[in-house]
Amino acid sequence: MDRRGMEDFFAGLGEKRFRAHQIMKWVYHRHVTDFDEMTDLGKALRAKLKGHAEIVPPKVIFEKPSIDGTHKWLLGMDGANAIEAVFIPDKGRGTLCVSSQVGCGLNCQFCSTATQGFNRNLSVAEIIGQVWVAARHLGNVPHRERKLTNVVMMGMGEPLLNFDNVVTAMSIMRDDLGFGLANKRVTLSTAGLVPMIDRLGEESDVSLAVSLHAPTDELRTELVPLNKKYPIAELMESCVRYVRRKPRSSITFEYTMMKGVNDQPQQARALARLMHAFDNAAQMKDAAKVNLIPFNPFPGTRFERSEELDIRAFQKILLDEGVLTMVRRTRGDDIDAACGQLKGQVVDRTRRQADFKKKLQGEGNPDVAA
Ligand code: SF4
Repeated sequence: MDRRGMEDFFAGLGEKRFRAHQIMKWVYHRHVTDFDEMTDLGKALRAKLKGHAEIVPPKVIFEKPSIDGTHKWLLGMDGANAIEAVFIPDKGRGTLCVSSQVGCGLNCQFCSTATQGFNRNLSVAEIIGQVWVAARHLGNVPHRERKLTNVVMMGMGEPLLNFDNVVTAMSIMRDDLGFGLANKRVTLSTAGLVPMIDRLGEESDVSLAVSLHAPTDELRTELVPLNKKYPIAELMESCVRYVRRKPRSSITFEYTMMKGVNDQPQQARALARLMHAFDNAAQMKDAAKVNLIPFNPFPGTRFERSEELDIRAFQKILLDEGVLTMVRRTRGDDIDAACGQLKGQVVDRTRRQADFKKKLQGEGNPDVAA
C-alpha cells in the first residue's frame, strides 16, 4: 500500500490515520517487519494488526556479489516463480534495477528475459519488496545514510504493461515515509507503449527512458516487435508530449549496440537526425540523451557485442552532431546481471521458453537440458 492506501487501511480499522506513517517508517526506514518490534505502537494495536495484516518481504533464493561491486538477488515471488533485482554502485550513487513482471510478454530479440516467456504481473508488494531487500542489505537509511539513491524500472518485464502496480510502487519509492527518492532518480524504461507513455505523463513525474535500439522502423521492428504497433514516429510524438510536461527536461534513449546490426556510421547519423528532430519538436535543447549499451551476450543469442572501436566511433558521430551521448559501462556481467541478461524462474504461459529451448537443443547447446 502507498501512504494513502495505508491511511485508509487504518481508518478502516477505526484507528488514527497517522498510524500509517509510523508503520511506514518502521518498514522502510528501519527495515522492521515484526509488529512486536514496533515499540511506539500500543500493545493492543499491535495485537489488532497481527489479526489483520502481515508484512512479508520477498524470499531471497540466492544472492550473488560481482567483483565490480554489483549485487544480484534472485527473489521468490510465489512457490514457482522468481525474479531478479540488481544493485549497481557507482561514484556517488547506488542504482537498483527492479523487475515489474515475471518474464515478459514482449519479445525483444536481444533480450534474455524474453526467452523465458511470461507468467504474470508483479504486485505492488512484490515490486517494492525488491527495493526493501536491497535497502536492508545495504543498511540504507533514507535522509541519513542514503546508499540506494536511484531506482530504474529496467529489470524483467515491460513496466507500462503493469501500469497501476508500478505507479503505486514508484510513489512509495519517492515518498518521504518510503524510500524518499527524488522524482528524477526514479526512472521507468519502456519498449514504447505509446498510449501508456501518455498516461504516465498524466499520472507521474518520474524520469523516462525509451528502449530505441534502431533509428529506422525496418530494423526496429525486427529487434523490438512492438514497433510494428507503435512505429518510431508515433513513439517520438508521445515522447515529445511527455517531455513537454514540466518539470521534465529530457528523455534517455537506450541503444543496445550489436555488431554489424545497428552499429554502423550511417545508423549513427540517422539516430542523430532523429534526436535533433525530437529536440526541435520538444522545443528544448538537449531534450534527448542517448545511452549506448554494449550488448551483453547470453546462451543461444544470434547477436554479438559491437567492437569497442565501433562503439566509440558511433558515439563520436553523435557527439559531433551535438547529441549528448554516454556509453554505459558493462557491470555485473560475471554474474549475468548486466543489461538484458536478467533471467528469473518463469513458469511460462507462452510457448516462448519451450521454443527457445528447442532451438538451443537443435543447435547442440550442451547447457540445455531436454
Ligand atoms: S527488453 Fe524489456 S520489454 Fe523487451 S523483452 Fe526484454 S524485458 Fe521485455
